[in-house]
Amino acid sequence: MAKQTYDFQTKLLHNDHKIEKYTGAVSVPIYHASTYHQWDVEQPGEYDYARSGNPTRAALEQTIAELEGGSRGFAFASGMAAITTAFFLLSKGDHVLICDDVYGGTYRMITKVLSRFGIEHSFVDMSNVDEVEASIKPNTKVLYIETPSNPLLKVTDLKAIVRLAKKYDCLTFVDNTFLTPVLQRPLELGVDVVIHSATKFISGHSDVISGLIVVKNEELAEQIYFLQNSFGAVLGVQDCWLVLRGLKTLSVRMEQSTRSAYQIAAFLEQHPLVEQVYYPGLRSHEGYSIQQQQAKSAGAVLSFSLKNKEAVKQFVERVQLPVFAVSLGAVESILSYPAQMSHAAMSPKEREKRGITDGLLRLSVGLESTEDLLRDLEQGLEGVGATYSFRLESREKQIR
Ligand SMILES: *Cc1c(COP(=O)(O)O)cnc(C)c1O
Repeated sequence: MAKQTYDFQTKLLHNDHKIEKYTGAVSVPIYHASTYHQWDVEQPGEYDYARSGNPTRAALEQTIAELEGGSRGFAFASGMAAITTAFFLLSKGDHVLICDDVYGGTYRMITKVLSRFGIEHSFVDMSNVDEVEASIKPNTKVLYIETPSNPLLKVTDLKAIVRLAKKYDCLTFVDNTFLTPVLQRPLELGVDVVIHSATKFISGHSDVISGLIVVKNEELAEQIYFLQNSFGAVLGVQDCWLVLRGLKTLSVRMEQSTRSAYQIAAFLEQHPLVEQVYYPGLRSHEGYSIQQQQAKSAGAVLSFSLKNKEAVKQFVERVQLPVFAVSLGAVESILSYPAQMSHAAMSPKEREKRGITDGLLRLSVGLESTEDLLRDLEQGLEGVGATYSFRLESREKQIR
């Protein structure tokens, strides 16, 4: 009988690691061994030393490769370890072109660390394809993309960037943390390297730091494997198991959180105290139609801006449900303040230039009931500014 092909949601559960071969265990065993006995002097076994390979990690790596539509996956001690390892594909004198509101840690790695090793960079608005083409230099080797980007949710046309990369013989890296393979599969659009902070939606429970890389090309896979083993920032086995467990519910979590995010974005957009909402699921968003073409939905992260820092403070003090924290992509909603959290590594001048203002908040929508979240945000906004409270009071009086 031909092997059945399943929908994505089914594949999360029914894959090669569903049942362990020797015992029938339905949860992937955690192999703690750091080294493996070799039965034959001439013929090394599949595993020898656990930095180079481990069955628990292999289960995670194969699973993510299959979900992203790649040939091989690699698990790392953090998203930054994955990103850094991918950058090690570059050599001294190479240039990388990066989306301008890239994740703060990636910004730090590129500008403060890789620059010391002679790897050049420049930032560009990746949502502007002409600008990207104009910024490619003779030594440009990598186009580095986050779509939607962080925290302004700018959308990059992946197919268009892939075309440019092929024309100029560059590799494309996509940080797919915000959408996960449930909603967007960049390898299917011709991207070379997909990277995740699996700390976020993939594991999903705010309880593990982890990173992943997936590639399709076999030669690139060999290079990444060599770098993973050389740099050695592999994911520990307990953490591999946690990510594997989180993955099983990825579809249902993404779908529920995304449904809420659409409603919250629509609510915020019509609210008089919200200056702007950044969410590619809104028709008013510049990247709306590209987002629709290349992804299944707009995801569970949105940003919005209030008037200033004072307004942010008043709002944050009043909201009850979201935790106020760094990070995103969890079962609980997380409200972040990019200017002082994810993008604190950027100078105020650089932040302003990128639109990451002191009034900007980012909300990663969790699994609370949509109604409860909407009510909480509404009452949070009631705490902002005297004028609005006054108007609200008079409206209540009228109703009474
Ligand atoms: C969190 C994050 C990272 C870094 O991942 P860590 O697991 O914290 O090292 C990279 N990219 C994006 C988009 C992120 O949100």
